[in-house]
Amino acid sequence: MRSLSRRWFLRSAGSLCGGALALARLSAAIQTTSSPYRRPKLKITDVRTAEVRVHGHQLHVRIYTDQGIYGHGEATDAAAGAASIIQRHLRFVLLGQDPLNIELLFERGRTLGIFAGAQAGQYVTALTAVEIALWDLAGKALELPIYQLLGGKVRDRIRLYCDTGHHEVDNEKSREILARARQMGFSIIKMDCDDPRNPYRWDRLNWTMNNRELDLVVKRVEWVRQQLPQEIELAVDGHGRFDVVTAKRLARAFEPLRLLYFEEPVPAENVAAMREVRESTATPIACGENRYLRHGFTDILEQRAADILTPDFQKCGGLFEGRKIADLAHAYYTPIMPHCVVSPIGTMASCHVCATIPNFISLEWHWFDDLESWREWVQEGDIIKNGFIEVSDRPGIGLTMNEEAARKRQVPGTPWFEPWKG
Ligand code: MG
Repeated sequence: MRSLSRRWFLRSAGSLCGGALALARLSAAIQTTSSPYRRPKLKITDVRTAEVRVHGHQLHVRIYTDQGIYGHGEATDAAAGAASIIQRHLRFVLLGQDPLNIELLFERGRTLGIFAGAQAGQYVTALTAVEIALWDLAGKALELPIYQLLGGKVRDRIRLYCDTGHHEVDNEKSREILARARQMGFSIIKMDCDDPRNPYRWDRLNWTMNNRELDLVVKRVEWVRQQLPQEIELAVDGHGRFDVVTAKRLARAFEPLRLLYFEEPVPAENVAAMREVRESTATPIACGENRYLRHGFTDILEQRAADILTPDFQKCGGLFEGRKIADLAHAYYTPIMPHCVVSPIGTMASCHVCATIPNFISLEWHWFDDLESWREWVQEGDIIKNGFIEVSDRPGIGLTMNEEAARKRQVPGTPWFEPWKG
């Protein structure tokens, strides 16, 4: 029926108008009248931001369109100042444009900032918030969940790991933390192994460990390991504090504990140093939360500097960039455990990506000390069920912010999705 209709249209139009102009009009007419697969025609009309402080600094961005649909994105860590980058730079890439051309807008925004820091940090964090808002918008406009737009699900629910953010042991507080994490159903727990208040440190700046300091750290990790049943995995985070000699000694001392991984044993920017640590130990090494874009992961993979990659989809460039990083890692047989410290909105956005990644293990959850905020942040309530998040089937990210609850954590003096006055 459709081909008959097109032939009739062509004949009728040809006899009536003739010439190239008529054909162009005809082509447009066919696009708008005869195809049942029309994509919505949207135009970006405004970009607004809000900033909160929960686990660090988070930036929320909303991209509005001429048809009343808006997309919501969240970015983190290098978020202070990112709102200004959005409003003073990226805004002009977005206004008036079709928001469904996500790759085009992302690449324009990235290349616009090549001389303004678009390789990492605040600029990429700003770009990330925008990218995620565009995916949320695309999902809402096309009435599909984001995972479907990224290739479809390979799993329905996302295993979370609980970063307790603590290093205390053998006291009432540490027992309560572990009991609560287990009660919430987590099968992986992470603890810190860098303690700025370790009484044996050489001084406040030097992180080279002496024997007493090292013994205390290893004893703490041993204690936590002993409290957990075998089916619960334990990981430790060094936050990139240590030098190579300390990182190697710690990693070797951890070997009998069979940790899931030792994260950022040295700072992330020196890939050769990370590789040296990895080659020295049987303890798996993880890194990635302080690397940006695909470019930040190619050398880690090529040089075999890490066993597990931990990109943060709320700062590394966004959801599609995260998917691309995961695909690169898959080609090197390297699993992904994304870093994640954001609200349920950003976490669910990450879940959409994790649902599409074959080489995914588990996603971080870090609101252990902010449970009340977590549970009231979105209108849908607590999205964690027994240590997992079920990926939303609703269009876009699939969650709506409870503004009254979220605003309790607003950074003073910053706008709350108000029109830009700059
Ligand atoms: Mg970390």
